[in-house]
Amino acid sequence: MKIGVLALQGAVAEHIRMVEMAGAEGVIIKKVEQLADIDGIILPGGESTTIGKLMRDYGFIEALRAFSAQGKPLFGTCAGLIVLANQVEGDNPVHLGLMDMTVQRNAFGRQRESFETTLDVKGISEPVRAVFIRAPLIKAVGPEVEVLSEYKGEIVAARQGHLLAVSYHPELTDDAQVHQYFATMVQQSKASSVQG
Ligand code: GLN
Repeated sequence: MKIGVLALQGAVAEHIRMVEMAGAEGVIIKKVEQLADIDGIILPGGESTTIGKLMRDYGFIEALRAFSAQGKPLFGTCAGLIVLANQVEGDNPVHLGLMDMTVQRNAFGRQRESFETTLDVKGISEPVRAVFIRAPLIKAVGPEVEVLSEYKGEIVAARQGHLLAVSYHPELTDDAQVHQYFATMVQQSKASSVQG
């Protein structure tokens, strides 16, 4: 099983390490042609406006929408979550627009720009280590979206079928549980596409 990490900007090597800890092969993705060779993809953190612009420049918007339409899983972390959303508060562009949720960028303000905590995540047995860096929050979700985790009453992890999004950086810890969860989603989508 091969899981790609979109490598236009952001924390790529750390995600590859986590994918391998979760027992899959990690592939650095720089060109749209590479998408044909992978079973799922991680959209890393960074700066969502920059990532979105690079995605447009390199043809990744259409290519990743087609990838998603095949039922292949996508996992957005932090800026990657913003890239997945179909609504972004304020004067901010929508990028892939695949996940039915409204996102607020830089939602923790200056006081809490960066911090580490432990969260309960639905579907994961042990509490998860999470690093928040100028993180977004999910302010509202559509009927197809399942909330997986909250921090102080605000949504920080959610799933819509084959789409997974978290506000934080699970790759900056030694805890691979969220990547393991995503690897299981990829495994299940691969198994069902082989059968059918
Ligand atoms: N603040 C960034 C944005 O709004 C996201 C930060 C991150 O990915 N760590 O795009």
